[in-house]
Amino acid sequence: MNGILFSDRNDFSAILEKAKKVAENRLKKQDELAAGIKVDDLDLQVLPEKGIGAKASLDFFEKLFAQKMNNSAGARYFGFVTGGSTPASVAGDWLVSAFDQNACGSNDSVAPQIEKQTIHFMKQLFGLDENYFGSFTTGATISNLVGLSLGRQWVGEQLGVDISNEGLDALPKIKIVSGTPHSSIIKSMSMLGIGRKALVKIDTLPDREAIDIEKLECYLRENAAHPVIVVVNAGTVNTVDFDDLETIGQLKSKYKFWLHVDAAFGGFASLSDQYSHLMKGINAADSITIDAHKWLNVPYDAAMQFTKHKNLQLKVFQNSAAYLGDPEKSPDYFHYTPENSRRFRALPSWFTLMAYGKDGHREIVERNCDAAKLLGRLIEESESFKLLAPVRMNVVCFTLKSESISAPEIQNFLNLVTKDGKAFFTPTVYRNVPAIRAAVSNWQTEESDIKIAFESIVRVAQKLKLEKTFV
Ligand SMILES: *Cc1c(COP(=O)(O)O)cnc(C)c1O
Repeated sequence: MNGILFSDRNDFSAILEKAKKVAENRLKKQDELAAGIKVDDLDLQVLPEKGIGAKASLDFFEKLFAQKMNNSAGARYFGFVTGGSTPASVAGDWLVSAFDQNACGSNDSVAPQIEKQTIHFMKQLFGLDENYFGSFTTGATISNLVGLSLGRQWVGEQLGVDISNEGLDALPKIKIVSGTPHSSIIKSMSMLGIGRKALVKIDTLPDREAIDIEKLECYLRENAAHPVIVVVNAGTVNTVDFDDLETIGQLKSKYKFWLHVDAAFGGFASLSDQYSHLMKGINAADSITIDAHKWLNVPYDAAMQFTKHKNLQLKVFQNSAAYLGDPEKSPDYFHYTPENSRRFRALPSWFTLMAYGKDGHREIVERNCDAAKLLGRLIEESESFKLLAPVRMNVVCFTLKSESISAPEIQNFLNLVTKDGKAFFTPTVYRNVPAIRAAVSNWQTEESDIKIAFESIVRVAQKLKLEKTFV
């Protein structure tokens, strides 16, 4: 054995202690560190011929890299939809690496059973029927990819073609019909050979991101001869708008379509009596996407995919090799998921659900929504900003009050906010208006964080206004 490796093996415990120290040093500064940062590209180094050992590597990391990480796990990082990591989920994540299981299925380890257990928890958390099959993926993008791949297989079968064996060439173009699809849906269409141009965008309701159901029905009626995939949103990224799941589900008795629901973070509406009506009708879905690394607050990367058509999932993902066994006899994830070897990524979710239960996670969701609503009210009352949509759950979509506002102005404003260090936001465009999004999805965020963030954006807006007056 290589000498350094040998000595690291003997020193394993001290190495873990040191890694813990590095993590602690970081976590205890979380509240003072700037919420977001900008870094320069790294100068790439030559691979060392001789290693420096784990402890020296930890020192190197802490000295040179730690301060260049953004504070996305902190309470005032409102960019994208970014969850942090609960204490129990971090513990679980560390153990994933220490135990290093290949969660591919089989009874050689309890790891895949724990994944099944965690999926079972999730179905209860989100009010999903018992008969959904589910698995963990690396993110909502891949859950959408899996869901659409099942929809694609289903469309083929309606037309008498087994796409998993025959490919797509024997078929007319497969259409994907949606109101406000997330960009990852369109990316998935590219990956699946359906093509980005196969998207049929249906108008949304006035001043909403939710689909106009009459227009959807009209499309389905006119195209009744062609089975399609309908992608429904349970929580859009800009305004957390929900399509009417229940009414769309009822259309399935009249028209032939695959119903995929992208509930990446909106699915968490199910946890709270205040919001659960938004998820009513979810059980009509043929496939569902829900993220764990967003609002469940577990470390990257983790999401779930669910489907009522396990048989189709087997057709799409079956991996035939003699040593992998008969999937009917030993059903395992090898034959049901895009990967073969798989990280045991269910464990951090299992830990957080065990540690805090439905009640603990409901409290995070409700506290985050209350915080977003507070920010919404402050923005509505302010002279500098304009709220662009009602705060439905945890996202605030707003812009600078001004005659005409451009995307570079928003970016300039946000760069100054990032520099101010108190909070981090990302830009967007909402109904052709360059805008700002604040997504509140961290388990640590309190009302006081909202006040600090709001003071910061007011400070920056006033400074900009002063500059303009003097120019
Ligand atoms: C974030 C998000 C996705 C993509 O999720 P990743 O986890 O980043 O892959 C898809 N759909 C919606 C609605 C989202 O919010």
